[in-house]
Amino acid sequence: MTSTPAPETVAFRAEIRQLLDILVHSLYTDREIFLRELISNASDALHRLQFEMLTNAHVLDPEAELAIRLTPDKEARTLTLSDTGIGMTHDELVENLGTIAHSGASAFLKSLQEGQKMADVIGRFGVGFYSVFMVAEEVRVTSRSSRPEAGAWTWICRGDDTFQLEPAERAGRGTEIVIKLKEDAAEFAEGYRLEQVVHKHSDFVSFPIYLGEKTVNRRTPLWRQPRSEITDEAAGEFYKQLTLDFQAPLLRIAMNTDSPVQIYALLFVPAKAEPGMFSLRKEAGLKLYSRKVLIQEYCKDLLPNYLRFLQGVVESEDLPLNVSRETVQSNKVMERIKNALTHKVIESLKELAAKDPEKYGQFWAVYGPFIKEGLATDPASRDKLKPLLRFPSSQAAEGELVSLAQYVGRLRPEQREIYYLLADDVRTAAGSPHLDYFRQQTIEVLFFTDPLDSFMLSGLQAYEGFTFKNAADAEVSAAPPPAPEAGAAPAAELTDLIARFKTQLGERITEVRASERLVGSPLRLVAPADSRDHEMDRVRRLIEKDFAVPKRVVELNPRHALIQGLAARLAAGGQDALVNDAIEQLYENGLLLEGLHPNPAQMVGRIHSLLEAAVNRR
Ligand code: ADP
Ligand code: MG
Repeated sequence: MTSTPAPETVAFRAEIRQLLDILVHSLYTDREIFLRELISNASDALHRLQFEMLTNAHVLDPEAELAIRLTPDKEARTLTLSDTGIGMTHDELVENLGTIAHSGASAFLKSLQEGQKMADVIGRFGVGFYSVFMVAEEVRVTSRSSRPEAGAWTWICRGDDTFQLEPAERAGRGTEIVIKLKEDAAEFAEGYRLEQVVHKHSDFVSFPIYLGEKTVNRRTPLWRQPRSEITDEAAGEFYKQLTLDFQAPLLRIAMNTDSPVQIYALLFVPAKAEPGMFSLRKEAGLKLYSRKVLIQEYCKDLLPNYLRFLQGVVESEDLPLNVSRETVQSNKVMERIKNALTHKVIESLKELAAKDPEKYGQFWAVYGPFIKEGLATDPASRDKLKPLLRFPSSQAAEGELVSLAQYVGRLRPEQREIYYLLADDVRTAAGSPHLDYFRQQTIEVLFFTDPLDSFMLSGLQAYEGFTFKNAADAEVSAAPPPAPEAGAAPAAELTDLIARFKTQLGERITEVRASERLVGSPLRLVAPADSRDHEMDRVRRLIEKDFAVPKRVVELNPRHALIQGLAARLAAGGQDALVNDAIEQLYENGLLLEGLHPNPAQMVGRIHSLLEAAVNRR
């Protein structure tokens, strides 16, 4: 026995009531965006239907054209928008258009209070449908699900606290929205105005949008057009519709190829790495189509993870249509698409670096960390990524960055290694005692000043046959060390000073020795030869709460006036608190320069007493 379905009245959830109240009374100038939101819902519904048809043989009306229709009526002051999409059942109407737990509604209201523009944010919080109440006195949504057994229902609302549901008559599947326009929104019952709004906001919706007999959206998927025919303007507009990012992208990458797999792709590098608060793209990933059917809105398997900042669309005729969202991942064609896209992206970046170094500099400033992450985490891309790297160096002008090719291009004749120095910033690097020797020999040293650089090192290994070598390591093979100059501290005094360093610093260090590598600096700290992984130490200092200062070797410069003076003082004076203070301070200065000092402020007391001694000495 079937009971006749009865009309019913349902109350909105509190946050939706509040939202409606604002929308109904709003005088926003950009009200036209309601059409974008409704068309986007219709397009979603059509995409979902298409997908449903791939996996389910029984949908209502399988022959009906997948389309969106706009029907304005000037006399009646109404606008009707219909689609042949997946439709909604009675319960879905209640759920989707009224009772769903909308945390989005509150978030949306909050962002309005914070001064955000309605048009920028409404689509973002899953409340886009309600924007229709900016222009509507009354809205009637009649929908019939594509499930053959479902009946049609109408949802009616006048923008107040409740909505009504009534059984309806509708032969085909899909949704029809009849909008009774407010008096001051009569413009949306005019064909020319609708056409204008569609062009502006919904031009690339892939289903036809009919207005009378005419299709009003441009529709042709831009990514299927030959690369040469994609104008800057069209691409810019496409990017904006895709992301709602108002900043122009840094780079556009178009791909249209048949081998080794068929691929159409239109990708963008956004100007900023973090999507804007109101980006339409809610997750990382590219839109994946197969034969014009949207397979996945956020496909993360098309590019390696470190290239997750790219936005855009990929389509392939080679992907089987019945590939489900779950099996996309394990599909062999996907692997080939991924390889081809990765290659293309890296090549395009290299091309940018060659053609427009300034713009590449902008790219590097924003996305350098992603490329370094790739080096550390993706062995397959490693060699391809090295040409993209840029670093400050001991020979680069301030603010200028050097590529590995440039570095190798100016190697000293006897040089077989690429030298780098880890430091907290360029200034610290430039003042490092490890540079003494390299300066003297005019050997260039790259500065690795990004905390990520320590991680990246694991993937760096070699470039064009030259291995990477830390300039702070005790031994370097570029050239013989400088001959000891005259004026070094006398041997006996120096031996005593070394012994004093050892007793004073005790367990904190592993060894003290004289060094030939130092020129202008009195002392440096180097990692013991057997220490593993010491290049991560500075990172540990930043992230570990109870960071223990690692043990280092102390190297002294016997030719430096300070070391000579200390040695002489020790020889003259025996137990001298000043000598001990100086040793402590020299050691801690070393820690500071290495980025290993856990608490530099602690040094101030000792520095004061050393100053006092210096000032009072006559
Ligand atoms: P969002 O589109 O972000 O989910 P909306 O407020 O625009 O949020 O729409 C709410 C929900 O209503 C949609 O997720 C969808 O389930 C349903 N819906 C809206 N319009 C249609 C339509 N034309 N056909 C089918 N379902 C729809
Ligand atoms: Mg929507």
